[in-house]
Amino acid sequence: MRRGSFRKARIAAIAIVFASIVLTCAVGAGLAADGKKYEVVMANGRVMDPESGLDAVRNVGISGGKIRAISSNSLQGKTTMDAKGLVVAPGFIDLHEHGQQPRNYQFQAHDGVTTSLELEVGTADVAGWYTEREGKALINFGVSIGHIPVRMKVMHDPGGMLPTGDAAHRAATPEELAEIGVDMEKGFREGALAEEMGVNYTAAASHWEIVEMFRIAARYGASVHVHLRYAGLKEPTTGLAALEEVLAAAAVTGAPLHVAHITSMGLKFTPELISMAEGAQRHGLDVTTECYPYTAGSTELQSAVFDLGWQESQGITYKDLQWAETGERLTAETFEKYRRKGGVVVIHSIPEEAARTAVANPIVMIASDGMRITGSKVHPRGQGTFSRVLGHYVREERALDLMTALRKMTLMPAQRLEKRAPAFKEKGRIRVGADADITVFDPGRIIDKATYDEPLQYSEGIQFVLVNGVAVLKDGQLVEGVFPGRAARAPISE
Ligand SMILES: [Zn+2]
Repeated sequence: MRRGSFRKARIAAIAIVFASIVLTCAVGAGLAADGKKYEVVMANGRVMDPESGLDAVRNVGISGGKIRAISSNSLQGKTTMDAKGLVVAPGFIDLHEHGQQPRNYQFQAHDGVTTSLELEVGTADVAGWYTEREGKALINFGVSIGHIPVRMKVMHDPGGMLPTGDAAHRAATPEELAEIGVDMEKGFREGALAEEMGVNYTAAASHWEIVEMFRIAARYGASVHVHLRYAGLKEPTTGLAALEEVLAAAAVTGAPLHVAHITSMGLKFTPELISMAEGAQRHGLDVTTECYPYTAGSTELQSAVFDLGWQESQGITYKDLQWAETGERLTAETFEKYRRKGGVVVIHSIPEEAARTAVANPIVMIASDGMRITGSKVHPRGQGTFSRVLGHYVREERALDLMTALRKMTLMPAQRLEKRAPAFKEKGRIRVGADADITVFDPGRIIDKATYDEPLQYSEGIQFVLVNGVAVLKDGQLVEGVFPGRAARAPISE
């Protein structure tokens, strides 16, 4: 060895020793290679981000409710959670959850949901709705301005969640229509995320009323989340005809359209409905849709859905209806009795093939349509939708791949809302700067446990859930006394 290179080697050796002393000191002082200490580190998980396509083992550093670092180097945290062998995904965003009570949020956290949104019935009082939940919510929450509740208010309907009187069965007068419009606009100014229409439940609303409501939504850049006018098997009351109505309304007004639970509207025509939505997208309309992974729907028995002719139209009968309070199947007698009393039924009407087609289709988002928990036999979808997609349809059935499934429950719902509510640009992604809403699960174990007979059971296999950087689920257990959920809301205007 020549003398010169010997000296270089010695300098290099000293430099290495010196560097490692610096590094050791830094680590000794509680700092990692990047010299920072995070509030939380999610360590060694398989990070899956549908936006960037990242699918690799990484450490995620979180501080101040945001993702601050995503690194293959180790990171130092005040709290470190071990995600080895687990998937680290953006928290699931549920566009359609009617149950917005603390108990629903606990079930949803166990199912990986970090943002729960009531967009399909919505509220008539957007400001009041948000105030009620501020500072008290386990997960993030948001609401739409609802055509159903506004119409019920303006027309003095005596119904509960859904109309049973004039709001269901009478056309609005010009004065009432004007009043409905004023209330809808107020909701938007108060920060409603979207507009809701449930045309099947407001069956007497004219086609023109529907167009008018779309026109208002268009002015506020809001998507219209629609429960279609029909869900029948026989023309002219099929989901196909009903979809045509709102596609036309979207086309003539420019308002984005979101079709709720395409499977319970389409039934055996679900593939045709999806292909209509795809065609509309290809031709430049902003149209999206969603489904839940079940072969039954659910709604209120006293609603207009069960007005005269429901059996013939929907191709089902009494025994296909299950009274949620007790789980019993209905007869002609109990149907009349319970319809007078009022309450929720589970409707066994969706072919498995329709459910599977929608769950697997890359343009169809996943949304639960969960219900407020009243009896012991509520539909299981509010408790198990997301785990059922990941456990049953991805792992067991191989109906779709994991990244596609995650995209349908994170990025796509965020993108649906981000034009109206820019806060959603920071959700549904594992990206530096994004909100630290994170769901960590075991892909080999995740599964829904809620069934029609035993619906109030937590899903399994979800280990950690972070909402704005705060753990609400740790080692599969709810964390007591934390309320990190924040209002997911569009900008408020005067
Ligand atoms: Zn619905």
